[in-house]
Amino acid sequence: MARKNAARGAREYHTAVCASCGGEARIPFEPKDDRPVYCSDCFAKMKGE
Ligand SMILES: [Zn+2]
Repeated sequence: MARKNAARGAREYHTAVCASCGGEARIPFEPKDDRPVYCSDCFAKMKGE
């Protein structure tokens, strides 16, 4: 009864341009124009500092 989304399998990834380095950024959510997107490298750098 709790299983409503049976069709959900692997997570879908979207491709966007990294706002920091301009490289390709893969994100598990839909990119929005008013929000900067970062690639995994830049995201890790921002988190580490
Ligand atoms: Zn980047």
